[in-house]
Amino acid sequence: MGAGCPGRPPFLCPPIAGGLAEQNARFTRTGSTVAIRRGETERQAILNVHMSTTTAAVGTQMNAPSITITPVRVADLLAEGERMPVYVHVIDHPDARVLVDTGMTELHPAVADLDPRLRPLSRQDFDLAGIDIVVNTHLHFDHCGGNHLFAGRPIYVQRRELDDARSKDGYTIREWVGAPGVRSVPVDGELELLPGLRLVPAPGHTRGIQVVVVGSGGRPVVVGGDVAVWFGELDEPHTEGQLRVRALDPELVWLAHEHEPWRPRTV
Ligand SMILES: [Zn+2]
Repeated sequence: MGAGCPGRPPFLCPPIAGGLAEQNARFTRTGSTVAIRRGETERQAILNVHMSTTTAAVGTQMNAPSITITPVRVADLLAEGERMPVYVHVIDHPDARVLVDTGMTELHPAVADLDPRLRPLSRQDFDLAGIDIVVNTHLHFDHCGGNHLFAGRPIYVQRRELDDARSKDGYTIREWVGAPGVRSVPVDGELELLPGLRLVPAPGHTRGIQVVVVGSGGRPVVVGGDVAVWFGELDEPHTEGQLRVRALDPELVWLAHEHEPWRPRTV
């Protein structure tokens, strides 16, 4: 649990933004089917979503080489009386297709009070076999529940996070972390996974949480998982991880529980 959210479920620690209910209502009203397909000529994900135009629905186009980031909604959870979305993110890199976090695929008594509504990747029009590499930002249940869908493929996670998930009671749903065939690759600190794509530790929400920093030169885009659970935590950063992300001067930051990416305020 990060600082600033005492008394909340340790998995979530979600101070809820005021606009969340409104955002959810908009999303529900306009539909929520998300699918990804490959273009014939361009190696670029196309987001097919029945939704009014918002930045959340649009993959982030980086400078050359072309790297596209696409959010995929995989669940909703009930937190403090409000529905909170759970997103994973697909990064289409010229060398590999990377999935950041895996959401959930089934219910579990330990989290029944959060009334999960699931849209697992395995039941969407999603090319599971097309994923080459998986990254877990951290191992709370709503970020690793689909790891089993990617058995045999490398799943990059900070070693500290893996140790905590395996050793601390109540930390997560442990059988999801160690599901059959799951091949975790422990990482110690920063790692350049692919050209222009780095894993960077960002402690706060958990000790071992990491973010994915995309782009080399210029302002990066960050896929942050729960480095911040809501925008206010990046507007006024407190944790080491939030401060580190802000220090990168990112163009925008995708979060797991927000529909749209966070962007720094312009004066
Ligand atoms: Zn989460």
